Amino acid sequence: HLSDRLAAVASFVQEDARLADIGSDHAYLPTHLASTGKITFAIAGEVVDGPFQAAKQEIERQDLSHMIEARLGNGLAVVEAEDQIDTVTICGMGGALIVEILTAGHADDKLATHPRLILQANVAEEKVREWLNRNAYAIVDETIIEENEKFYEIIVADYTEETLEPWSQEDLMFGRFIKTKEPAVFARKWQAALDRTNYVLGQLEKAQNPDQAKIDAHQALKQAIEAQL
Ligand code: SAM
Repeated sequence: HLSDRLAAVASFVQEDARLADIGSDHAYLPTHLASTGKITFAIAGEVVDGPFQAAKQEIERQDLSHMIEARLGNGLAVVEAEDQIDTVTICGMGGALIVEILTAGHADDKLATHPRLILQANVAEEKVREWLNRNAYAIVDETIIEENEKFYEIIVADYTEETLEPWSQEDLMFGRFIKTKEPAVFARKWQAALDRTNYVLGQLEKAQNPDQAKIDAHQALKQAIEAQL
């Protein structure tokens, strides 16, 4: 059984995909997709031995070794040209780490097949959108999942030959699809963020030596969020 979060990620994987799931941990996403017949091949990539062993065990337990290979390595280094990967999922990490993985993979030609990217950053989604925007990846869909009082945004991007217009700061931060697709969850996420910002602003303004630059940054953030709600 998949979490709602990973089920939403799975819904963006296309039929018969050849998937690289980077940071796969227990390989729940690729095993689900393989056992339901949606994908034909997957790599479960892991950089840490414990999760790598967990992935291997889960693949064996579900008798899916003919379709899924667990590989130990950093980010996209586990992908080889002959794997013919057409979909990459990177989920459950911070946006900065996802960008690091994409940047290194891009430099090593691991994205040469222009796979669809399905990315779920726990924080700093704007960094992920900015990387996509700068690297010829058009965001084709996004959604947001609320699970256990946490919010998870999922970003789907396809490579494009067209020149992409740079996205505005607002687009990078809030996405372009989420507000119209999931208005209620979007509003809850950003109301919670606004409450936190207001709290931090209150603390900053109470300080003995108020840090004006920080106050200004939080004021700007507050205004940006309020404009969305
Ligand atoms: N993707 C799964 C999910 O969304 O439920 C697991 C998320 S788990 C919180 C993050 C995993 O990413 C960890 O198992 C960690 O070892 C792995 N990881 C972190 N950095 C990585 C990297 N550079 N390359 C491959 N795996 C990485």
